Amino acid sequence: MKIISVTGLQKKYGNVQALKGISFEVGRGEIFAMLGPNGSGKTTTLEILLGLRRHDGGKVEHFDAKGQAGPMPRVGAVFQGRVYYESLTVSELIKYYGELYRAPPPDISRYLDMVNLKEKLDTQYGNLSGGQQQQIAIILALVNDPEVLFFDEPSNALDPQVRLKIWDLIRKLKSEGKTIIFTTHYIEEAEALADRVSILSKGELVITDSPGNIIKKYNENYTVEFSFEKDAGAGVFNRFSDVRFRDGIYSFSVDAIDGDLMQALTEISDKHKPSRISIGKSSLQSVFVKITEEKVA
Ligand code: ADP
Repeated sequence: MKIISVTGLQKKYGNVQALKGISFEVGRGEIFAMLGPNGSGKTTTLEILLGLRRHDGGKVEHFDAKGQAGPMPRVGAVFQGRVYYESLTVSELIKYYGELYRAPPPDISRYLDMVNLKEKLDTQYGNLSGGQQQQIAIILALVNDPEVLFFDEPSNALDPQVRLKIWDLIRKLKSEGKTIIFTTHYIEEAEALADRVSILSKGELVITDSPGNIIKKYNENYTVEFSFEKDAGAGVFNRFSDVRFRDGIYSFSVDAIDGDLMQALTEISDKHKPSRISIGKSSLQSVFVKITEEKVA
């Protein structure tokens, strides 16, 4: 059952059309990712969904547990570049944010237990590590017992262990029935966490589905990747179609690994001495590159 429905959403900043009429639905209790490169319109969408920014066209509707359209549910949010009172301790922050709401705050100390940060209750926020601050920010977003949580790039710039902890925390919130909507430019984060993913590119929503279905829909079997110490240019791949280039890696998809392919790859390797070649089953990563990067050959 849907909890939020977005139809034809548009937003313009000056002459930048940041959202070109995007539509999607978020199901009650699901983890929903908005995945896209920087500048594709993720944060703008999140801000509009939260009512923090006006849109120019289209609509956002909210639905209750019976499927009736109604007011916005209780929400919690964590943005990038969060600002908290750095000199307050974790327990003071919990108390402070709790008191901003009329209802008594729910006991959120169990979340602190879960992420092993209970011993930080008396530590000033400013003295926590970046990863600890982010975990506390997520926990603080729970003080009003929200139905829907919004996270803007929840594990951006955090080290891999902290990222895994944050993913666990988000999964735990889902298991408690909360709906989670997050933006990310990390494909692995969308693939690991989300039930469904919307891929945004330049203000347009290209596809919304589960990671598995997105891969199937693009009918990708295998992805071949090449990188070179000395880039010989995209012309090297002109016998293949739909070649993309991102982060120093050329990639394209093939239906089968056969003799013709191996011969073509061997010729390219002999001539251009790649530093790396890989052939693997297609993943959300390869579909994402295909959707969001221009063709180079
Ligand atoms: P993302 O979150 O995917 O990086 P954003 O929603 O932040 O994308 O930005 C989408 C587009 O809108 C970008 O071209 C960005 O430069 C532009 N933009 C975002 N916020 C503003 C703003 N406050 N004023 C002008 N342009 C903006």
